[in-house]
Amino acid sequence: MDPQIRLNQMIKVLKEKGHRLTPQRLAVLKILSRSDDHPSVESIFAMVKANFPTTSLATVYNTVNLLKAAGEVLELGFAGLGSRYDGNKPYSHPHAVCTACGRIDDPDCSSLAGLTQEMTQQTGFAFTHHQVCFFGLCPDCQGKQ
Ligand SMILES: [Zn+2]
Ligand SMILES: [Zn+2]
Repeated sequence: MDPQIRLNQMIKVLKEKGHRLTPQRLAVLKILSRSDDHPSVESIFAMVKANFPTTSLATVYNTVNLLKAAGEVLELGFAGLGSRYDGNKPYSHPHAVCTACGRIDDPDCSSLAGLTQEMTQQTGFAFTHHQVCFFGLCPDCQGKQ
């Protein structure tokens, strides 16, 4: 998704809910709107702190939680890797996760629609979301084994 569109959407939602948009908060939103690496709160904090040295970890947590509650960021929880966030695609989508370096990719996976249909047919469920993750070694880490 276009990061600029995502950023504007996040700003709109926080404003609608009456939250003040400080420069630190805006910096968090900008990082999440791209979500290049599916960052953790700690890595977002490190990036924001580089430009705004007075930023607190609590501010970053707070902003991420506001967005999470509004459905504007997707949280991925992993044993070992902790929680990682995707604000660029805040809806369910499949992830490829490297268990060695923690890299997380968003592959285009068109067969997921077929899988969802199959799941619905077999269970009769009305699905609202899913968590599909494939774990293994990314191309860079495969060479290091
Ligand atoms: Zn890796
Ligand atoms: Zn993602």
